[in-house]
Amino acid sequence: MAATGALSTPVQAGDALPVVGSLVAGKTIGTAARSSEVFDPATGAVTKLVAHADEATVDSAVQLAIAAWKADWRDAPQKSRFAVLMRLRELLLAHRQELIDSIVSEHGKSLADAEGEFDRSVDGLDSVFSFPVSLQGGFAGQTSRGIDTRSVPHPLGVVTTITPGNFPLMIPLWSAAAALACGNAVIHKPSPRVPSAAVLLAELIHEAGVPAAIYGVVHGDSETVDALLDHRGVAAVSFVGSTPVAQHVYARGCAAGKRVQAMGGAKNHVVVMPDCDLQFTADSIAAGAFGSAGQRCMAVTLAVAVGQVADDLRDEVATRARAVRVGPGRQPECEMGPVASRASQQRIVDLIATGEQEGAEIVVDGRPLAKQRDGFFVGPTVLDGVRPGMAIYDDEIFGPVLGIVRVASLAEAIEVIDQNPYGNGASIFTGSGAAARTFERQVDVGMVGVNIPVPVPVNSFSTGGWKASVFGAHGLLGPEAFRFFTRQKMVTTRWPDTGSASMGMAFNPGT
Ligand code: NAD
Repeated sequence: MAATGALSTPVQAGDALPVVGSLVAGKTIGTAARSSEVFDPATGAVTKLVAHADEATVDSAVQLAIAAWKADWRDAPQKSRFAVLMRLRELLLAHRQELIDSIVSEHGKSLADAEGEFDRSVDGLDSVFSFPVSLQGGFAGQTSRGIDTRSVPHPLGVVTTITPGNFPLMIPLWSAAAALACGNAVIHKPSPRVPSAAVLLAELIHEAGVPAAIYGVVHGDSETVDALLDHRGVAAVSFVGSTPVAQHVYARGCAAGKRVQAMGGAKNHVVVMPDCDLQFTADSIAAGAFGSAGQRCMAVTLAVAVGQVADDLRDEVATRARAVRVGPGRQPECEMGPVASRASQQRIVDLIATGEQEGAEIVVDGRPLAKQRDGFFVGPTVLDGVRPGMAIYDDEIFGPVLGIVRVASLAEAIEVIDQNPYGNGASIFTGSGAAARTFERQVDVGMVGVNIPVPVPVNSFSTGGWKASVFGAHGLLGPEAFRFFTRQKMVTTRWPDTGSASMGMAFNPGT
């Protein structure tokens, strides 16, 4: 099919700021006239613009991808897809520092955290190398006389991956790796707040040998997303982001007849039992709550203290919160960087104030830092006496704020978690195998940790929550990603050596 978009539009510099353009069949497209600002969250300065793709650009990207997929990629042998992904791995390692610097400069996370993201990104790529086995399909011989039946996984065609700002490399790479391994073409829509890692990744994917039209990047926000959701050429949508947007993407994508998986936001509880190792527990909770400034979908946001452990836990966690070294992520000694945007910073500061008005006690207050620095900083914050019904409990904060909820028993802790609409992750810290087992069995979330604060599984398992943390049936990576990015073709064969076909059902020729 012919491309219909404006491939000839050059990238222009707007007011001396560089413009990050979309990548359509290897060509960079976009102008400052239709763009948004990209900030360095550590200074608050605008560093570049990102050009938003209009409907025509989205259409070009999809049409060119369909054409390239039909021309060759859908028939590319497993061996060559494997080799391309292996080359991508080498290229990623060769460009490690460039990718890490890009993440730090646009997201703001600490160098150590960005290094962790890079490593976890490559782990995700590694996990898809099982695809020649995972995509073997099924076979049953002699299902009737002279008849064999096979199920053969086929790629879906052109899929779109829509990803959040908090992991600008990891989630795009996880989705890309699984989708490409399964033989699909991909149009990626990254977060416009953190667009550059996605472009670097796409360039490396092309350099590794994926045809340029098979992996495209379109920047933008709701208009670009809706153009992808409505496009008839897009077969499936893999979304990761906040719950309201996940709900929108799921509803609109399904209404357009697409397969959709939409991972949403979270409120992750950690239950602390009186028999836990308190120092280890407090270290773990502080790392899970304040790492990446609390901007992980699996960040610890609520410590549910059972019985008499609450006072000691509060003191230990508060000590650690006060000791976190906050600063620009690029400084090697930094442990926690700024939050994503000025709007996030304001929302977090307001939520802390609302928490106090609603009856929570501020034990450590991160708000003064918001006034002392130019960037989008909020210091580690601890609130005690947090309860369901308070905004600080109910809303996803996505910042370095830990709430302590006090309960009397493990059963009450599990009930609190079950009543929460989100169901991404939950953990228990305890010395009791019986308590851990009860918790694991009964808690209503998708990812469970025992003495682990952030229980994201190893990448050969699928990652994904339950309840309002996911819409659609499949998780990221692992067996669920292979299922999501393929559909089964059921093939029934017969090679008669005599006679003609019966007039009955082909599957039941009578003998
Ligand atoms: P976001 O929902 O604002 O954005 C996610 C994507 O949706 C981006 O590409 C964005 O451009 C697009 N988008 C934003 N508003 C839109 C709209 N109105 N219509 C259509 N598209 C829109 O999320 P974010 O702030 O970039 O990332 C943080 C969120 O992602 C948090 O809620 C976090 O919990 C969640 N998250 C979830 C997981 C998971 O696995 N469940 C993983 C990482 C992040």
